[in-house]
Formats: sequence, C-alpha cells, structure tokens
Amino acid sequence: MNGNRLFYIVFFLLSHFTYSQQIRIGVMRDFAIKKIQFSHNIGNYTVFADSLMIGTLSTNEFFELTFEDELRVRVKKGSTDLGAYSKIVLIQNTPQTSITLTTKTPVAKVRKYKDDFEVIATNRELRIVNVADLENYLAGVVESEGGGKKHLEYYKVQAIMSRTYALDNSTKHENEGFNLCDRVHCQAYHSMNRFTPTIDTAVMMTQGVIMEDEHNELAEAFFHANCGGQTCMPEYVWNTSVPYLSTFKDTFCIYTKQSTWEKRLSKAEWRSFLVDQYQFPENDSVIGPFLYNFNQKDRTAFYVSPVLGIPLRDIRTRFNLKSTFFSSSLEGNEVVLKGRGYGHGVGLCQEGAMKMAVYDYSAEQIIRFYFPGINLWNIEEKWFYNQPALDILSFY
Ligand SMILES: [Zn+2]
Ligand SMILES: [Zn+2]
Repeated sequence: MNGNRLFYIVFFLLSHFTYSQQIRIGVMRDFAIKKIQFSHNIGNYTVFADSLMIGTLSTNEFFELTFEDELRVRVKKGSTDLGAYSKIVLIQNTPQTSITLTTKTPVAKVRKYKDDFEVIATNRELRIVNVADLENYLAGVVESEGGGKKHLEYYKVQAIMSRTYALDNSTKHENEGFNLCDRVHCQAYHSMNRFTPTIDTAVMMTQGVIMEDEHNELAEAFFHANCGGQTCMPEYVWNTSVPYLSTFKDTFCIYTKQSTWEKRLSKAEWRSFLVDQYQFPENDSVIGPFLYNFNQKDRTAFYVSPVLGIPLRDIRTRFNLKSTFFSSSLEGNEVVLKGRGYGHGVGLCQEGAMKMAVYDYSAEQIIRFYFPGINLWNIEEKWFYNQPALDILSFY
C-alpha cells in the first residue's frame, strides 16, 4: 500500500468518524454536463484522483473537471493541467464546509452544496455525486421543494416526510451509482439550504425521525396541495389500499387559496367523453339526467354510481382538472364543474398542515392527523439494534 493511499484511508476514517448517515445524490441531473468548476465557498477541500491526493481547494482557487472520454475526467487546477483520471473525489476538511459548483458546458448554472463530491465520466457526460450527510441533504430538499416563509412545525413535518421518502427509495438509482437524483422524480434538491435558517432548525430538531407503518416498514409519505375539506382514499387513486391512510374531513384547509375551483367545458365535449367512451346511459329515464348533473357531497371514486364504471380519476386526467372532488351542472351549452381541492387528496394536505402549524399544532400532531395509523421512530436509536436503514452504494 503506498503512502498516498494510506493517507487517503486514514483521512477518510477521521473525517467520517462521528456518527452520521450519508446519502449519495446524483446532482445537476437536469443537464448533460461536459465541463464543471468546483470553487471555494466555505472551508477547504482535499482533492483525490484515483485515490491519490492531487491538491487542496482553498479561497480563490478552483478545479475544472472536463469529460475526456468514457473512462476519464481531465482535471485542471486553475490553468494547470493535472492529467486525466477515472474518478475524482473532493472531501471536506471540516464539517459544515461547502463548495460552489459552476457548470461551464452547458453554460453557467451555479449551485452551492455541503459535504463531499465524487465525479466520473460515463454515458458521454460527467456523473456528479454529492456524498452528503442525510440531514444536510434534507435541509436542501425542504427548501427546494417547499420554499420559504413557512412555520417551523410545518418544516419539521416536511423534514420527517422527506427523510422517510429518502430512506424508502434509496435504491431508485442503484444502477447509476447513487441513491437518489436531484429532480422531482425523487425529491427536488437544488442546493444546500441557503435562505431559510428555520429549515436547518427543523431538520436538526427532527434528526433521525421517520414514519413507519404497523409492520415497522417505512411508510409512504403521500402528500398533495389541498384536499378540499376531505382527504381521499388511496384506492380511489391507485386501486390499492394503504392501512395507515383513510378518508376524513379536514376543516383546516377549506378557507385557503386552493380549496375551490371552477371549470367550464363544452357540453358536446363532455357528452362525447362520457357517452361515447364510457357508454353513459343518457336515454335511461332514471340515470340519464345525471349526465350533466352530479352532486358529490362526499368524495367518491366514480361518476354518479360505481355501477356505471366511470372513474373520476379518468375524468380528471381527460379534462386536466385540479381534483376529482367536483360536482357538475349544466348552464346553456356549457357543463360547469365546481370542484374542491388540488391534487390527488391522499395523505398530507399541505395547505391544511400549514394552517395547523399556524394554530400551534406540533409536527407530531400534524402527522398523526393526516396519517392516523403511522408510528414515528428515530432511526438513530434503532441503529444500535437494527441494520443500517440506508444501503449506501459502493462508497468510494
Ligand atoms: Zn430520481
Ligand atoms: Zn385539506
């Protein structure tokens, strides 16, 4: 074993000695990156190429990485060419260090991240992986997904849900060499949390907390923008039931922005969809009049009656409706749909949860309200008598 490699291993062990759960995130996945610069933001980094230490990154310095071929990445420090290597690793020298990434090809996208990086060349582009502390990643996710100006308890709810999702989906990109991508396909993660200090507090206060079902499996943390006053049974949306979810009234969201909607459609278009495609019996003396006149007081799965077999979710998709929680009526040549809520209605109602937080409900109370059958656990306590929850892929 040569000295450099030994140094690398010792360095790695020291820098990761304290307990922390890490996760590998494929970042900048919206772009096919050929060239990127890593430059200083806070603290220093040590840079390794194929396990050899090739330099450090400090104030006013930058490393430029370029796709060379399917096996190699060309590395420059400033204007000095350091050669081409198969894998470049940047390791932070102290915790809470962060780094600036600037894409050069395609043109400038600037993002800041915490923790370590690994870069290889594959599929005609650079694959950039942020090997992040799970809690730092979550702070970035909560800001990217939820934005600013929310209540601390609401951010705590988001942190618990995002942590549960991350651990439950950690094999989603296994074949690409990372756990999760940074797009909405997994969870939006556009950078470290930069603008909302409350989010760091929320993540820290809920550190390790996850949602589990009655079999101690990670729960699926479904959410939507607004339930319209009643949450939806999962089987209405996906044909499968989820034991810890049911339908119930939610009065927290009914006076918020997206609680109601209205859409007008041409009578002919409506008729054509229901009669031609779903054989709605328009000439039936009992059922016929309901073609344009349906009153959905409580959420149901089908238009007018289950016997007709017209799923509301099909109507929602066809006419691009905000929700399936609507009633219909006829005005001249138009069908008027008056609806409630926005989204599928299953699980957590975001606008209701935000309102609960404003009314001083705790994150735990909010989660228990929307997911009545789940348990909250701390993975860090389980760690001592359980296997690691996260299977981190071929780390370094
Ligand atoms: Zn993904
Ligand atoms: Zn609601």
